[in-house]
Amino acid sequence: MRKKGWKTGGVWLLSLAFLLTACKGGSDKPATTADTATKTSEESVTVVGTETEHQVEFTDAVPTSAEEADYRDDPQVEELARQVEEKYGIDIVYGEDVRRNFGNEEEDLRATAFTNAEGIKTAIKAVDEAFSAFPKGLTSQLADEKRGTLKVYLLGAVGQGDNAPESGAYPAFTDNEDRELFLAIDISPDGFINVPTVSHEFTHVIDFRMHEMGKFDDEGWNRLNPEGFSYVENYENYATGEFANKYSYTEYHYTPRKLTQPPEDVYFVYNYGTVSALEDRATLLEPLIIYRMWGHDTIAPGMYEFPHIQAKTEYFLKAIEAAFDLAPEDVEIWKNAYEKLAKK
Ligand SMILES: [Zn+2]
Repeated sequence: MRKKGWKTGGVWLLSLAFLLTACKGGSDKPATTADTATKTSEESVTVVGTETEHQVEFTDAVPTSAEEADYRDDPQVEELARQVEEKYGIDIVYGEDVRRNFGNEEEDLRATAFTNAEGIKTAIKAVDEAFSAFPKGLTSQLADEKRGTLKVYLLGAVGQGDNAPESGAYPAFTDNEDRELFLAIDISPDGFINVPTVSHEFTHVIDFRMHEMGKFDDEGWNRLNPEGFSYVENYENYATGEFANKYSYTEYHYTPRKLTQPPEDVYFVYNYGTVSALEDRATLLEPLIIYRMWGHDTIAPGMYEFPHIQAKTEYFLKAIEAAFDLAPEDVEIWKNAYEKLAKK
């Protein structure tokens, strides 16, 4: 694979650009998703380890004074992190232990630390929720000899270069060319994070690893796209370019439109998927992931019923299944969810 730089459309930048797009405002998020997210975060969350392991229940009902507490004064933070780490075979890094610099000398991101105990617990529960949508064992198998276990950084606000850090400016990001295998998430100001965004980034991490392992056939993938189509490979004009609205089910994230093309001309979830194969695959899985997490089919209802969307989604799901050693029963759960949405 050609070496891609940060500035010239590297995958990290691609990922960042998606997130900036997705999180610019609330208008592109469906009310149902936001409602569910709020509801979930208000409930007590049980973190389930292995079946034989005891379960510890944490509730959000805490006195106001506790809301100000530093994570170092709250033993629940470490206990919760440990449980989720064990469940997924990952490292969760938070508080003052987080990495502060990402990127390269040309274009770097600088992160701050986030130290509020309640916020960190909220974020860890959201990470649990995001990863729970994927087949068990997938997270731990992403580890490699060179870069080790997947690190999940729970950061404060992030800024670029000498710019002041700003909450939500870089909600979540990853970098395929970094010395570490990581997923960084801005959890400021209160620990609430966009769970689908984390799942989307995690899909990129899976995609990167499959390519590194030589277990993804890009030529086969490209054959599933329309004749004459090529990815835009930039973030500036995908919404206005040659292929905008031509093959997409919706125009933007979460904004269903009346289909103006025949169903057999639907190849992408929304225009963002025409940016790159990476974004295409991550966006294709979004409705499935939301369904797995929250049980509703509201992002793009009926999307998996289109024949080319089916072909592409199934190609990606099968590739994941083939690349990793997954328990058949866990694959079955994913498959069943997909087939239900695809009405198969
Ligand atoms: Zn992306």
